[in-house]
Amino acid sequence: MRLRDVVIGANASIFYRLDFSKIKDVFYPHTEEEAEQAIRFARERSLRITVKGGGSGLSGACTGGNDERIVISTLWLNKILRIDPQGGYIDVQPGLTPDLINEALKPYGMKFYVAPSSRDVATVGGILSTDGGGNDTWVNGTMRDNTLRVRMILYDGRKITVTREGVESEDEELAEELNRLRVTLDDVASSHGTLGFVTELRLQIRPLSEESVVGGVAHFDDATQLGQAIHRMIEARSPIKYGEAIVAAHPDVREDLRPPLITLQFPGDYADDLREILDIELLPDEQVDRMKDIRIKLPKRNPKQGIQLALFEGYGLHGRSLLNMQATVDAINELLESHRYTPFAKYGHAPSKWYLGDNTAAYGMVMHSREIRPEHTTREEVLNTILDIVDLCEKLGVTPKPEHKWPFSDTVKLNRLREIRRVVGGGFNDFLLRDDYREVLRSMV
Ligand SMILES: Cc1cc2nc3c(=O)[nH]c(=O)nc-3n(C[C@H](O)[C@H](O)[C@H](O)COP(=O)(O)OP(=O)(O)OC[C@H]3O[C@@H](n4cnc5c(N)ncnc54)[C@H](O)[C@@H]3O)c2cc1C
Repeated sequence: MRLRDVVIGANASIFYRLDFSKIKDVFYPHTEEEAEQAIRFARERSLRITVKGGGSGLSGACTGGNDERIVISTLWLNKILRIDPQGGYIDVQPGLTPDLINEALKPYGMKFYVAPSSRDVATVGGILSTDGGGNDTWVNGTMRDNTLRVRMILYDGRKITVTREGVESEDEELAEELNRLRVTLDDVASSHGTLGFVTELRLQIRPLSEESVVGGVAHFDDATQLGQAIHRMIEARSPIKYGEAIVAAHPDVREDLRPPLITLQFPGDYADDLREILDIELLPDEQVDRMKDIRIKLPKRNPKQGIQLALFEGYGLHGRSLLNMQATVDAINELLESHRYTPFAKYGHAPSKWYLGDNTAAYGMVMHSREIRPEHTTREEVLNTILDIVDLCEKLGVTPKPEHKWPFSDTVKLNRLREIRRVVGGGFNDFLLRDDYREVLRSMV
């Protein structure tokens, strides 16, 4: 295997101009002891550490920036340690994917309910580090909601166990200090590998359910009407099992679609209540499946001229940005157009749930956006546009979300991680928490 393949992996992000000479070694531990040896190797040489799961993260975090570092892959940390259906949990090593975990749970009639669309490659260690989730977070929550505890090794070799309540460690002073800071699993979630190496996870599992649902489509005059309907569903805690909105689609791929629209599936006896919120047209199952298929294929199609790209793979609209969705979309489009991008398709999960940097839950729509790329753009120009959108999102009250792939854009989270690292030490993915992160990212595109 080439070094380049290990470091870039399945990473679909734009960060691939790396200085490979700065990667001093790559480790593939099978056990916690071997992981400890790798960490000691780095510490003795004052090298930084990047832990690599499936490499499907989009933030650039899993590349390790351009620090002198070692890479520790969790490829062989892929064992199931214990399944306890009665206790409702499974203990696993961090390199397993949700698909493999669910394969093992099938005979027990149980399921691990975290389903990013990358669930065949993304590892549970990586998914917790990005607090990922699929299009069902409204029903099943994000990774943090489905994790009960983790074991971690810190850069200095000390070990901690983090639960929803706090921290335990053989080093009582360390545990006391971290508990004084009220460190919990919320802090490990979305920490982008900056706190330590997660070597074991206890994940919540639940019985498989095959609840029957009906489905339909609702159309809206504009995106604001759609956003307000999503807001009302959230307030009413509507039992939506599947919700995907299409906010806009370029004429080249629009066909007979009339966006803004939302396709929903829900228990049959909820239809009358839902009609009080929006004008749902119930459809036969085949037509609901067709709508789902159109939505899935939308980002895979190209315009008649040029190519489309995911410049900014998803952001969360909640609160005022949801209630005023048309103005939000217009402001983002205006910025895109000023950088010569043509908006191509906007669609996404709704209602949806994610977490803000202060660990409060946000509810709204996770919008994915595709643009037609202008000709002759450099990679640096692409990154500059992305960073401008991140800044605009902050102003609009939008979470520049993608699995919180921009830890540095949320100052609350950033400061919290820095505060915890004053106790646990640095060493892991330091580049993400530096003031000059934008320059680091620029050096990587
Ligand atoms: C096609 C595609 C579709 C996607 N769809 C979704 C989606 O639907 N929902 C979603 O949330 N995300 C999605 N993503 C993003 C990506 O899959 C997630 O960010 C995923 O959670 C990353 O997991 P990974 O194992 O690939 O981690 P990596 O990319 O390898 O690493 C991500 C971060 O976690 C850290 N890390 C990894 N393992 C450990 C560990 N054991 N201990 C400490 N730190 C660790 C890394 O250092 C890095 O900072 C998608 C990505 C792609 C390419």
